[in-house]
Amino acid sequence: MYDELIVSPRVLLGPGPSEANARVLKAMTTPMLGYLDTEFVQVMDDTVGLLRRVFGTENRLTLPVSGTGTAGMEAALANVVEPGDGVVVGVKGYFGERIADIAARCGGVVTKVEAEWGTHIPAEKIAEAVAKVSTPKLVALVHGETSTGVLQPLKDAVEITHQSGALFLADCVTSLGGQPVDMDALGIDIAYSCTQKCLAGPPGLSPISFSDRAVAVIRNRKTPIQSFYLDMTLLENYWHGEKEQRRYHHTVSISLIYALREALRVVLEEGLDVRYKRHVHNARALLAGAKAIDLQPAAEEGYRAPMLTTLHIPDGIDDATIRTRLIDDYGIEIGAGLGVFAGKAWRIGLMGESSNEKNVMLVLSALEKLLIASGHRVERGAAVHAAAQVYSA
Ligand SMILES: *Cc1c(COP(=O)(O)O)cnc(C)c1O
Repeated sequence: MYDELIVSPRVLLGPGPSEANARVLKAMTTPMLGYLDTEFVQVMDDTVGLLRRVFGTENRLTLPVSGTGTAGMEAALANVVEPGDGVVVGVKGYFGERIADIAARCGGVVTKVEAEWGTHIPAEKIAEAVAKVSTPKLVALVHGETSTGVLQPLKDAVEITHQSGALFLADCVTSLGGQPVDMDALGIDIAYSCTQKCLAGPPGLSPISFSDRAVAVIRNRKTPIQSFYLDMTLLENYWHGEKEQRRYHHTVSISLIYALREALRVVLEEGLDVRYKRHVHNARALLAGAKAIDLQPAAEEGYRAPMLTTLHIPDGIDDATIRTRLIDDYGIEIGAGLGVFAGKAWRIGLMGESSNEKNVMLVLSALEKLLIASGHRVERGAAVHAAAQVYSA
């Protein structure tokens, strides 16, 4: 026999999953309904309505696709990009690279606009790249680049994109529910996210939304959408069709949709602006504490994503040793560096429920103690003191 599943309590301060809200976990224990049960259809409609508010959009084609954030990325690209299409992708970290990879797999002719890890992509560089592609179909940027902790400004890039006639895609996997996405106000044509970062749910769904312009592009495709599972025209019938049109496409994850509905209710109950400010405030305290023990930010000032802080690992400190001790001694998970930052930076996520004062004080005091024990020469108590000053200001 195998034992009943019991896991150790963890404080999730990595790049996701973040702590799931208790109400969300409770919603997941709601009994199953059939995927076309009228009561379940109401749950779907509610979820879509709530999602539109969090995305800041009135887009009809808004729904959660089955799968994690990467499924949303695949859905966005597979539906819009056809073989030979020009696609401009901003690459300033790991996830921009993934968009470029998938766009190429869809047959897109990809032009990358690259910026150093830890920096944002200036609008001029996007304009230059767009000008070089004769008729770009799509320009894609990662809003919150979780590998570097950079929050990319989108407004100018959207304008440049629309002047060229292309669609604008934003990866909002890390930002949705943590910082404003405002799809309609900014003119973003396609945005996708996930449930396990700032929405504070379990992993497994990827909310996505397409503007009417994007929908028109999908309807005018010359070639069929290669993916059956992520074909938005089929998913649209199931999610948005009139009664008779709503028909089986695949068995959606009933419990995860219950969870998302509750997660979105929690987000909107708190209020979007309050929630965005909470993320900024806790990130500010974390960074003040980190700097006080000489952990320097790896992301460019003025472009730091409050939901994910990257910190340079000081010379002489072993990355894995500290992260292992954080888990073993305190149950705290933080993220390792990816790509260029592997072994060189830590990624501390303060996402959704995880973004709170208790976690900031806990991770700072634990890190400080472990660093001092590893020979890092800083003043004992400095981290917590600096963070406390932010909180009591
Ligand atoms: C996490 C993340 C993804 C991938 O999401 P998964 O849920 O891991 O599939 C994509 N883009 C960004 C910016 C992310 O942070």
